[in-house]
Amino acid sequence: NSLPLHDLQVNIGPMKQIPPRSLEDPIQFIKGVGPRKAILLEKLRLTSIEDCLYFLPFRFEDRTQFKNISQAVIGEYVTLTGEVLNAGTMFMGRRKRVFEVIVQDKTGVIRAKWFRFNETYMKEKFKTGQKIILSGKSTLNKRSGLEIIHPDTEQVSGEDVNSLEIGKIVPVYHVTDGLHLKSMRTIIKNVLDKYLHLIEEFLPNDLIQRHEFISRADALSQSHFPPQGTSLSELDAFKTPAQKRLVFEELFLIQLGLAFRKKHTGEVNTGTPLKTRGELIKRFVKLLPFTLTGAQKRVLSEIMEDLEKEKSMNRLIQGDVGSGKTIVALTALLTAVDNKMQSALMVPTEILAEQHYLNIRPYCESLGIELSLITSALKGKERQSLYENIRTGKTQIIVGTHSLIQKDIQFKNLGLAVVDEQHRFGVLQRDAIGKKGDHPHLLIMTATPIPRSLALTLYGDMDVSLLDEFPPGRKKITTEIFYENRREKAYGILEKQLQQGRQAFVVCPLIEESDVMDLKAAVTVLDFIKDRFPDYVACLIHGKLKKEERQDIMSRFLKNEIQVLVSTTVIEVGIDVPNATAMIIEHAERFGLAQLHQLRGRVGRGAHSSHCLLMAYHPVTEEGQARMKAMQNSGDGFIIAEEDLKIRGPGDFMGTRQSGMPLLKIANLLRDIRVLETARKEAFPLIDQDPDLKAPEHQPLNKAIHRFLGEYLELMQII
Ligand code: ADP
Ligand code: MG
Repeated sequence: NSLPLHDLQVNIGPMKQIPPRSLEDPIQFIKGVGPRKAILLEKLRLTSIEDCLYFLPFRFEDRTQFKNISQAVIGEYVTLTGEVLNAGTMFMGRRKRVFEVIVQDKTGVIRAKWFRFNETYMKEKFKTGQKIILSGKSTLNKRSGLEIIHPDTEQVSGEDVNSLEIGKIVPVYHVTDGLHLKSMRTIIKNVLDKYLHLIEEFLPNDLIQRHEFISRADALSQSHFPPQGTSLSELDAFKTPAQKRLVFEELFLIQLGLAFRKKHTGEVNTGTPLKTRGELIKRFVKLLPFTLTGAQKRVLSEIMEDLEKEKSMNRLIQGDVGSGKTIVALTALLTAVDNKMQSALMVPTEILAEQHYLNIRPYCESLGIELSLITSALKGKERQSLYENIRTGKTQIIVGTHSLIQKDIQFKNLGLAVVDEQHRFGVLQRDAIGKKGDHPHLLIMTATPIPRSLALTLYGDMDVSLLDEFPPGRKKITTEIFYENRREKAYGILEKQLQQGRQAFVVCPLIEESDVMDLKAAVTVLDFIKDRFPDYVACLIHGKLKKEERQDIMSRFLKNEIQVLVSTTVIEVGIDVPNATAMIIEHAERFGLAQLHQLRGRVGRGAHSSHCLLMAYHPVTEEGQARMKAMQNSGDGFIIAEEDLKIRGPGDFMGTRQSGMPLLKIANLLRDIRVLETARKEAFPLIDQDPDLKAPEHQPLNKAIHRFLGEYLELMQII
């Protein structure tokens, strides 16, 4: 192997000593990658050798089977061999040039066409009589017949076809303008040739044996260039031994990170054990107008068990909209108070904070407990005196938005915090509230059930309780999609509900990044509704209203003094008016699935069956349609969450830094849930047994996890 001297000159100059190779070497160390290509590769986020190794093909083409031209199926990939009949530049109109090669075999003729080409080079390559192999998607040109645009080609000289492109299963990579697939393959091949020997194993031996994993080097190499005999369908399903190993690896490292985090927080967080089921709780349960559901009881006893421990609770409650999380939360909050400690409930929006506050207040009043609400609307002296009450401990339970985690709020002794609707916060805010006390017990509640695979990744360090039962007597919600031309039909349904004494929501579109526009749209809708339903009181509620006004409108709606509540999306979470049985969602095609589900959860809360009317406007994207269909087909949050994951792809859930999770490069949370579970089963016991991965045989793994998780270790507060 000769050294790629011309590249080295670019990087380190000709006279310098050549340093030992490492996977962190810049990609320009590869033969054929000069400054120009390096820039193109950087667009694909490929700057180091290691980046390239993990830049896997997104699909493969089977070029092991040669076909006759007559067997080419229009629209499918095909690999053919034949002889050049004619080749040359053609002109299409004044400027457009095409290089055309006519290829024939004994069964027919096909045209290969290039729109970007170097004429001299092409003429040299495709001489009449030259035997060639070509591969690509065959299409039908109405005028000239069968053709392949920009095929991969190979000259056949003698017997030997030693090619990356032909006679094999060939990787297909995402490329960028100016970087051909062919050169991408060559680059990857060169990377593998030169650096494969540097790839070290880091999985523990016994684990490798248990799962019969192939080595890491083989896995990387074969994931790019599959060995002879690999099945295309296995490759497409990402199920070859090589791919499986790489998927495992990635998920395993993440689960190790989570296991670290859990172990670590578990050890440091020596919380205050609480006495549960005390006097206060007994009095509280007597106040409830209903008996708890089985699921509520079960989840509560799981919580109680946590609270009694020396170690602070770190539990997630997953419960669909309307499953009754508030009562569970309140029981936990009261338990802290019963132990002479403070507790806090943090929610994502002001209006939800107010709602919770109003819901909880009657109980607190009966029990003689000091409850406070903090929102950003609270200013000046009032705010200062609230701070004072929190600091002295006069305030026992506090409800608020993220203003709860601001610096200037100091608790006397925060014993427990509940974070509701966690999906709006990130891992980081979850940690921030925990820092407001001496390792308070932490309860996270999420209403949008998230797919299991995602839960295991985002909340993988927490204990999970499922609130998987609805309070009795819930009636069905019928969901229907309407388009503008059937608006009156939807209004008819709404009217019928109003005539029966029920109430309704009309939710207005979310117009991105413009509160003013949102409001304008909402005002228009309100006017429309007032015209259409003159016998009923309609009112508009939105985020820009003062807290008092909002509270006033909400309480009038609750008392049925208002029948139709027109709103911007502020009602998305938490609002509880059992007599509301109809909801129109304007511009439903614009809303995300999780949000639609949340919104719909505002109806169907009482004894009457309800209607959710999705009002859509053309044009509706395919995704928009898929989302509305999913809503129509299911009321089950878990199914909807899985659909959402399918429609959006996992990137959207995990992609933000705010989520505090690394981006998955190889694994796919939809496809690889099984592997994820295996990874989890391996990771947690390993950390139990060797919490800091100190054992000599775990050193490579230790190194790998630091490399892989990098800054996320810090974000996740693992180190
Ligand atoms: P979510 O889980 O969406 O936060 P809530 O806590 O708001 O749900 O509860 C939804 C509704 O169900 C509320 O009106 C609440 O009072 C009622 N509810 C909760 N638990 C029960 C129960 N065990 N029996 C009857 N109604 C209940
Ligand atoms: Mg709720």
